[in-house]
Amino acid sequence: MDPDTKAARALLGTAARVAVLTGAGVSAESGIPTFRDAMSGHWARFRPEDLASPAAYARDPDTVWAWYAGRYRDVTAAQPNPAHAALAAFERRLGEGFLLATQNVDGLHARAGSERLLELHGNLGRARCEVCGAVSALPPPEAFEPPPRCGCGARMRPHIVWFGEYLDPAVLDRAAAAFAAADAALVVGTSAHVHPAAGLALETLRAGGAVIEVNPEQTELSPHAAVCLRGAAAAVLPALLQ
Ligand code: NAD
Ligand code: ZN
Repeated sequence: MDPDTKAARALLGTAARVAVLTGAGVSAESGIPTFRDAMSGHWARFRPEDLASPAAYARDPDTVWAWYAGRYRDVTAAQPNPAHAALAAFERRLGEGFLLATQNVDGLHARAGSERLLELHGNLGRARCEVCGAVSALPPPEAFEPPPRCGCGARMRPHIVWFGEYLDPAVLDRAAAAFAAADAALVVGTSAHVHPAAGLALETLRAGGAVIEVNPEQTELSPHAAVCLRGAAAAVLPALLQ
């Protein structure tokens, strides 16, 4: 075992509380395209803010729903990878002291068995009522005809945090509390640009905990991390968390 993996394993081995933040990189080996990569073919003429903003939805809800229905179909066809599985198995061992906050909207952590899970940016498989706020799961992609309707009769929108929108403050508070209380924070596959999620690991540092980063590339968080493991999540996490 290389010295960095050994050091990270030592940190996690003595930690009673571990908070994890994941981003798009954890789903790379599941073949989930990044936002940019998904904007090919018919979608190449759009900008992200033309598809994922309240203004875009107000202007053209059918186009926005067509985009989200396609992404929902893609993630439903994808499978969790060994990185998702390793995090779910680690949670079963650590129990109460574990929390996983994800920026991903693909639902793969839940499908891999993660339960102490906060989906900070929502979920492609859910819709939210524009009037009463009720959230419900979409039917299977083959039976789904957008836009979905709420039990109250109103139209529903994708249950996604769009550009220019705020994260649910209750969800963000729970995440911040877990990171501040964590002995170790594990940050996997996120460029750590998008705030406020990116600030979560700084809560751990401020409270005296250690940060472990798993990312093939250097990020803005790297200089603050006790250990940086440079590799793909699906290879690094099973070895780190076994
Ligand atoms: P990002 O695209 O900004 O960063 C991805 C990071 O993953 C990069 O730092 C990259 O070096 C790293 N990476 C690439 N391959 C990896 C691998 N195999 N293992 C580990 N790391 C790898 O993504 P982000 O930080 O999640 O932020 C982008 C925003 O876009 C988020 O808000 C998120 O909601 C959204 N998004 C979600 C999904 C998804 O649900 N799967 C996919 C794309 C984007
Ligand atoms: Zn409703």
